[in-house]
Amino acid sequence: MKIKTEFSFDAAHRLVGYEGKRSNLHGHTWKVEIEVEGEKLDDIGMLWDFTNVKKIKEHYDHKTILKICKENQDFVYYITKTCGSDSLCLMHDNPTPENIAKYILDTLKIMNKKNNLSFKVKVWESPKSYAEVER
Ligand SMILES: [Zn+2]
Repeated sequence: MKIKTEFSFDAAHRLVGYEGKRSNLHGHTWKVEIEVEGEKLDDIGMLWDFTNVKKIKEHYDHKTILKICKENQDFVYYITKTCGSDSLCLMHDNPTPENIAKYILDTLKIMNKKNNLSFKVKVWESPKSYAEVER
């Protein structure tokens, strides 16, 4: 059995170590597609509850996503001071579509430790390009 859901979120990011416009702070409407695969349905007849994605969306929506590093220290300081720390989403890696897809997949795996489900996550930074990861 396979089920699929998608959602979008608006967020800013910048890439550290990248030479070009993507190192500037800029925003996207990110699109996320989550595919869930498994064999066992629950007592209600569901493979997985799509309302679970709400928490993931809230984690990123209207945030500034930054890598935790020296190069972002000033951004973190000023964004925290002006918008509050809740408006930040900090990662240990550069917030590329690839890494965001990996983080979302890791979150899904942690949220669903008990059941035997496989997930595929696609993250679009623009309508024409996406990163995909599955486990
Ligand atoms: Zn970007």
